Amino acid sequence: VAKHGGGRTATVCDNNLILMHQRRTRIAETLTDALNSGEGLSLAYQPVFRTDRRLHGLEALVRIKGGEQEGLPTSEVISVAEERGLILPLGRWVIKTVCAQMRVWKTEYNCVPLVAVNVSPIEFMQPGFATQVVDTIRSAGVDPNRVVLELTESTIMSNLLDTRDQIAELHGSGITIAVDDFGTGYSGLSYLHELDLDALKIDRSFVDRMCISQRSALVVRAIIEMAQALDIRCIAEGVETEDQFSLLRNMGCGLFQGYLFGRPVAANEIAPLLQPDN
Ligand code: C2E
Ligand code: MG
Ligand code: MG
Ligand code: MG
Repeated sequence: VAKHGGGRTATVCDNNLILMHQRRTRIAETLTDALNSGEGLSLAYQPVFRTDRRLHGLEALVRIKGGEQEGLPTSEVISVAEERGLILPLGRWVIKTVCAQMRVWKTEYNCVPLVAVNVSPIEFMQPGFATQVVDTIRSAGVDPNRVVLELTESTIMSNLLDTRDQIAELHGSGITIAVDDFGTGYSGLSYLHELDLDALKIDRSFVDRMCISQRSALVVRAIIEMAQALDIRCIAEGVETEDQFSLLRNMGCGLFQGYLFGRPVAANEIAPLLQPDN
């Protein structure tokens, strides 16, 4: 393809593009097989803790299980699913699997933790998305009050009118909404007072830097204060050190997620954290 000066660079570049395309195609094939067979995917659950280090809830995170693609970054898996038209079936698999797991916890431990599920903008844009999620949760016999949907700012803003209706329908059934990666997306804040939201999740990039950058610390403080003023929950993502934990706690943050408290783990490793009053 590349013939003129600098052709060598162009060829390397083309090769990289081809390799990347092939890599994404293999991921798409794995996903398709997994969704068809019901095998090859799993969910990891990461705990969210309260200030007293008791469990507040969990976030479900999808993983490729087995095969040479095990351990692939989930962000890449999700972006392939979105690009190759697989995100809708994947999203349905995630919510169904979460519900089945919640039933197991209820039966075996008489305790159903709050579980947060990530929603892609493509899923949320589907007409009838809210109805479908509510149906799935209800027919699984799960209490919708125990389910949280995580939406990013750009998902929320992509069609504000529609968002308002979908959120109203979700709330009507008891499902709550958290804003994921707060502070990194759409910069407007108007949606915060227009929509009924239940939690803000402070993006990891702010938490990462808050102990070394005064400016990052100030941003974190502002987010916590805004959540308090709006009377909604605030969850710090990516808490890795005791210093971050104590600074966040001093600023009034009440909920924490990160490697300091626990990595995402298989469902059976969550059992010891479950307490009947959760
Ligand atoms: P997210 O929703 O912001 O999830 C948090 C990510 O941060 C997870 O990455 C988690 O493993 C990671 N994390 C948690 N604590 C720490 C920490 O202390 N340090 C560091 N360095 N990382 C931490 P993961 O599981 O790789 O997921 C990446 C993203 O993929 C998620 O970001 C979410 O946007 C998306 N995702 C995951 N599962 C699903 C899903 O089922 N559906 C959709 N649509 N997206 C999903
Ligand atoms: Mg999330
Ligand atoms: Mg997040
Ligand atoms: Mg994030």
